[in-house]
Amino acid sequence: MINIILLGPPGAGKGTQAHRLVAERNMIQLSTGDMLREARTSGTAMGKMVADVMDRGDLVTDEIVIGLIDEKLQGDNGGGFIFDGFPRTLAQADALGALLKRSGRKLDAVIEMQVDDAALVARISGRFTCGDCGEVYHDDTKPTAKPGTCDKCGSSDLKRRADDNADSLKVRLMEYYKKTSPLIGYYYAKGDLHTVDGLAEIDTVAKSIANVLDQVRTS
Ligand code: ADP
Ligand code: ADP
Ligand code: ZN
Repeated sequence: MINIILLGPPGAGKGTQAHRLVAERNMIQLSTGDMLREARTSGTAMGKMVADVMDRGDLVTDEIVIGLIDEKLQGDNGGGFIFDGFPRTLAQADALGALLKRSGRKLDAVIEMQVDDAALVARISGRFTCGDCGEVYHDDTKPTAKPGTCDKCGSSDLKRRADDNADSLKVRLMEYYKKTSPLIGYYYAKGDLHTVDGLAEIDTVAKSIANVLDQVRTS
């Protein structure tokens, strides 16, 4: 069992790679972004509370996302957890360490996906996802085989996110550099940091991640 964090700015490809690891290694994806969007769709009080914050591109409070992760850590861990989009602040990173320790688990690797800002704009503006199975697509780099139909599950419920626009992306990137990028130093100091080139093709990035996983598993 391997527990990893996928760390990178919005659009780096975290969700795309997490989906592959779920399919190929039976790992469990814990995406706080997906959990928050689910809370919005189902109209819970928490969902309503975070909607505006998310659309603006700001971070929701540490307390909320730590609570969401805490709950999921009680559940099945399959081939290990993939933390996707969490932690995003130093307080969240400390909390994750404590939660893992409490449940007798440990973090095996933090994989930083490096991508430049110009590529992020292109990725975010072309992103769409399947509302039924969550598969992630892109207008140019990963279109569906048949227009309007999910390759994986056949659904025609393909959607774009409300926060995938230029204004919100600007705020999200600033939030990333101010609050999340310090985690790179934090995990480097702990000896957990691995870096992959996120600009490579999806299959190539997947191979780089697989190399890291093989390396930590045998060490
Ligand atoms: P992206 O795919 O662009 O990296 P996510 O789907 O991970 O974005 O997150 C979407 C939004 O949800 C964020 O902009 C933020 O408002 C909120 N969010 C998700 N995860 C966290 C977190 N760990 N801490 C605070 N806010 C979060
Ligand atoms: P994140 O979860 O980090 O926000 P996503 O996995 O949602 O990122 O990817 C953002 C967009 O970029 C999606 O439209 C996805 O299809 C596309 N994408 C992901 N990885 C790559 C890649 N290596 N090369 C080109 N496009 C990619
Ligand atoms: Zn689908």
